[in-house]
Amino acid sequence: MPLFDRETLQCGGAPIFIAGDANHELPLLHEAADEGRIAGDNAARFPDVRAGMRRAPLGIVFTDPQIAVVGGGLRSAREVAHVVGTVSFDDQGRSRVMQRNRGRLNVYADIATGALLGAEMIGPDAEHLGHLLAWARQLDLRVGDMLKLPFYHPVVEEGLRTALRDAYAKLDAAGKRAA
Ligand SMILES: Cc1cc2nc3c(=O)[nH]c(=O)nc-3n(C[C@H](O)[C@H](O)[C@H](O)COP(=O)(O)OP(=O)(O)OC[C@H]3O[C@@H](n4cnc5c(N)ncnc54)[C@H](O)[C@@H]3O)c2cc1C
Repeated sequence: MPLFDRETLQCGGAPIFIAGDANHELPLLHEAADEGRIAGDNAARFPDVRAGMRRAPLGIVFTDPQIAVVGGGLRSAREVAHVVGTVSFDDQGRSRVMQRNRGRLNVYADIATGALLGAEMIGPDAEHLGHLLAWARQLDLRVGDMLKLPFYHPVVEEGLRTALRDAYAKLDAAGKRAA
């Protein structure tokens, strides 16, 4: 595998650009589509090579229950001081009604800024909660900002709110609630 820049997809200083599954970094359809555009644009305008737009990392596994990993999960969150907000779906109202009350969600927040770093979940509707969390991560939302958004009742998203409240309390304990 040649060394390449993930923002430009250029291999070293060569007029060669590597996109999609071929570069082995993120073998996902939406990433391959973005990378194809970046590589094609840069190849066409070479040597005026520019960084392309990259999205918040999101991975979904269509198991039962589903799995979602946002922002690189705990492995990426560990790069900075962080808190972990958590919720079990065992006693989550809507999940119980649907008899799909198995699983857990962890959200990771930056102690310095209160911003959402990422999340990991196995449980009901993980594909949908994963999207909400990836959008929040890409928009650099803080946990406090997210708690100001609407949560209808009775929905699985109320479980996300519980995890965010837990993270918010832990940021508070760390003296960063207002940050
Ligand atoms: C079983 C499976 C399930 C998946 N599920 C998901 C999923 O749920 N979500 C998700 O986001 N991603 C999923 N993926 C991954 C996703 O399909 C790939 O990341 C994406 O298709 C990569 O796009 P690409 O353009 O890089 O490569 P490809 O889609 O593989 O396209 C490469 C094309 O190049 C052609 N080709 C190869 N060699 C030559 C040659 N010498 N000359 C001309 N043409 C050539 C091939 O025929 C192919 O059409 C899955 C992949 C697999 C295999």
